Amino acid sequence: MLITIANDAPSSTRTSILAAALERGLHAQAMKNGRGGEVIGIAGTLPVDQMELAGVERTVPVHKPFMMASLDARERSVVMVGDVAIGGDTPVFMAGPCSIESIDDQVEIARAVKSAGANILRGGAFKPRSSPYSFQGLGLEGLEALVAAREATGLPVVTEVMEPDQVDLVARHADMLQIGSRNMANFPLLKRVGRTNTPVLLKRGFAATQEEFLMSAEYIMAGGNTNVVLCERGIRAFDAAFRFSLDLNVIPSIREESHLPIIVDPSHGTGRRSLVARMAMAGLAAGADGLMLEVHADPDNALSDGYQTITPTELGRIHRRGLALLEALRGFEETEDLVSDVIAVTRLGSADCDAVPELERIA
Ligand code: PEP
Ligand code: MN
Repeated sequence: MLITIANDAPSSTRTSILAAALERGLHAQAMKNGRGGEVIGIAGTLPVDQMELAGVERTVPVHKPFMMASLDARERSVVMVGDVAIGGDTPVFMAGPCSIESIDDQVEIARAVKSAGANILRGGAFKPRSSPYSFQGLGLEGLEALVAAREATGLPVVTEVMEPDQVDLVARHADMLQIGSRNMANFPLLKRVGRTNTPVLLKRGFAATQEEFLMSAEYIMAGGNTNVVLCERGIRAFDAAFRFSLDLNVIPSIREESHLPIIVDPSHGTGRRSLVARMAMAGLAAGADGLMLEVHADPDNALSDGYQTITPTELGRIHRRGLALLEALRGFEETEDLVSDVIAVTRLGSADCDAVPELERIA
């Protein structure tokens, strides 16, 4: 169950709720609710007297398997990565190569993606490759390249962590920990990143349902780390024409279920460079909080995923068009609101309507 307590609730209320959960052996986890108060998630039910304590605003019985990730828990989350807000009004653009190839290359691509509009730099140092004979990433040297690129550009950096034992090392170098598609259900890894305070980018397993995806986010949040950003990166479908198929249904659908920000990765989601720009636009139009894009100065010679990688010039175009698209969509929504107000005025013959000052301005 979820218990929301007001910001001016006596501290004894919080203590009593947590003690009641402990006494019953129930997992309890508190987080800010985005309105100044706090929400306590309890994996079970407490007696009614706990719900009647001073400052308890609201209780919601558990009706979904995930509770901390649920939209019932709190206002929409904004996750800060360095000074970049994910889930606010402006979309985030994470960009960089699939794999980090050298310190110099990473610094150079960081400068290029920054001037093309990116605000977070990506790059894999530990790579999950389908073949054990493929390039596996530079490891520690890759992490050092990310640090150098951040120093050169000021961009915060995101990179994948594959094993629980690597989490501290990666968290010392990166601003955001990426959990890759293949590790979405690696529960020891999820628990381990859940015990850090570092923001986590959780990519959807390519054969995972929406609920399994949200349950993996719940694993991280149950450990106390509520800074989770989801990423739709394509699922495996039947058509061999595509490496993966971007499942854009989950963008509006997860926004109905969860307060967590969600971004789209059209690079892995299509597996084809020529499809990336269109599907990036589609992702933003579907309501994504941003994009993750694989970008390389010379995609044909990238050490991994070159076929789905775009150039910094293409990134610049996607960035410009993406912002223009969102602006246009906002404009449509405002016009639609205005039109429905006009209809209301006409029907009611009433001057008592929000649209009147705006209508007078237009007239
Ligand atoms: C990546 O971002 O380079 C990556 C390996 O992604 P995914 O885990 O989605 O395949
Ligand atoms: Mn890749």
